Amino acid sequence: MWPAIVNAKCPKCWVGNIYANPMYSLSGQKMLTNCPHCGMTYEREPGYFYGAMYVSYAFIVAELVTLAIGTSILTGSDNPWVYTAVLLGVVGILAPFNLRYSRVILLHWLTPGLHYHPELSKGSETIISNLR
Ligand SMILES: [Zn+2]
Repeated sequence: MWPAIVNAKCPKCWVGNIYANPMYSLSGQKMLTNCPHCGMTYEREPGYFYGAMYVSYAFIVAELVTLAIGTSILTGSDNPWVYTAVLLGVVGILAPFNLRYSRVILLHWLTPGLHYHPELSKGSETIISNLR
């Protein structure tokens, strides 16, 4: 399962991409509507990805706490502007990561009734060998 999550693959077949572009692409974070391999619709109902806000919130809190403690240990500074600059800068850099993986985790772990179907990933070898 971990390679499917890390590579942002479909939660049902683990073959098709969820996003159209790489994470730090200049063309943005365009999410596909359906899996290009098995055809699963990613947004199951309107507003489905609002649930990803909670995952993203957990990511940001973990990042901010880690960064604040790390900045305190590394710099020993008590200047609040040091912390403000570091925390805002790094969270801004990590924003595409948070957006992408909050939705991927929502799809893979937090959607009831959505499981991996190994029979759907069959045929990917045929597709890959046809591309060669
Ligand atoms: Zn799929």
